[in-house]
Amino acid sequence: QAKAGGRNTRRFFDPKMQAGLAAQSALESDLRAALENKESLVLHYQPQVDRRGGLIGAEGLLRWRHPVKGIVQPDEFIPLAEASGLILALGTRVIAMACDQLAAWSRDPVTSHLALAINVSARQFRHPGFIGEVEGALARSKIDPRLLKLELTESLLLQEMDDAVQKMRALENLGVSLSLDDFGTGYSSLAYLKRLPLSQIKIDRSFVRDILVDANDATIAKTIIVLGKSLGLSVIAEGVEEPGQWRFLHDEGCDQAQGFLFGRPMPAEEFLVHVRQRSRMSSLSDGLSLVH
Ligand code: C2E
Ligand code: MG
Ligand code: MG
Ligand code: MG
Repeated sequence: QAKAGGRNTRRFFDPKMQAGLAAQSALESDLRAALENKESLVLHYQPQVDRRGGLIGAEGLLRWRHPVKGIVQPDEFIPLAEASGLILALGTRVIAMACDQLAAWSRDPVTSHLALAINVSARQFRHPGFIGEVEGALARSKIDPRLLKLELTESLLLQEMDDAVQKMRALENLGVSLSLDDFGTGYSSLAYLKRLPLSQIKIDRSFVRDILVDANDATIAKTIIVLGKSLGLSVIAEGVEEPGQWRFLHDEGCDQAQGFLFGRPMPAEEFLVHVRQRSRMSSLSDGLSLVH
């Protein structure tokens, strides 16, 4: 391990770090190549449900199908893409894929009501062409803009806040909805939250995980729900894995949920099977409730 406070040059002589850097740059050129290939980058879809457990949409999560490594998770390549600037091309791809998927869903009555949330990285959001890009993708795909949800993070909004607010207003005018991702992990202040044209805040998974055993996490989650309500926002919880966690959040008034309890992120075809299954089940239970 490199000594803290050592001279900068030291790291270049550390063989372990050198190997790490080489691996990073190999991964970076693989990612550059992946951007040229239509099949390499795909979205997986994780269900989002309302208070009754009804499916309302999905979050699209990026997956990289690497020729050698197999599926690479975003935590492994998003930071790299951000550092190298590839995130701009990647972000463009994600917007296009999301709009294409929404267009496909809109053609089938079983899926036409579903919304799709995608993640926007800070660098992508700050890029001057971002609004135009979203506008272009909406126009090309002819989808209902209200079904496209952009997930922004607090850190993204804190830098150059006036500019960020202006951009959010422009997005709002396009009709897309805005959700504040990983809420509670950043430096949120109540003063700024009320200035933002958001439609939703998303309780971070780190507060949900121990919600039944950690009193602090439970308090934070409750507070976020109350805060969201008082600002007229919908509140969604992420990382819900157990029925007890959802029962707690539900009792506190949480509007929506996402997590392994309701479904893992899955490829488009599998998600469609999931949707059809659920829609059959809900018509079955509607039928049963008529009997009772
Ligand atoms: P995120 O937006 O907070 O996404 C939620 C992450 O939590 C996803 O990980 C999801 O698979 C995971 N998750 C969902 N439910 C559960 C659960 O019940 N238990 C557990 N243990 N985990 C759960 P994933 O797909 O690895 O994504 C990680 C992060 O990568 C995302 O966090 C997001 O910040 C980023 N990311 C993913 N796709 C994109 C993208 O297209 N663009 C950008 N800029 N970032 C993306
Ligand atoms: Mg997200
Ligand atoms: Mg999140
Ligand atoms: Mg998260």
